[in-house]
Amino acid sequence: MKVRVDASLCTGHGRCYEIAPSVFRDDDHGHSYVDRADVPSQAEEKVRRAAKNCPEEAISIDDD
Ligand code: SF4
Repeated sequence: MKVRVDASLCTGHGRCYEIAPSVFRDDDHGHSYVDRADVPSQAEEKVRRAAKNCPEEAISIDDD
């Protein structure tokens, strides 16, 4: 699984890095960026949950 955050859509609600902090990080403005684009299998479920919970639909997932 690969994941990315569209920085032009993210408004910094922070849900993603609360749900999956091993994959999503917050920058100085509270906006999210992906720390590791290749998601380890044990984090996949959390990443899917983060994507569903993003109010801006800024998270896209690419299943391998
Ligand atoms: S949940 Fe969505 S809008 Fe909020 S910080 Fe994460 S990517 Fe950005």
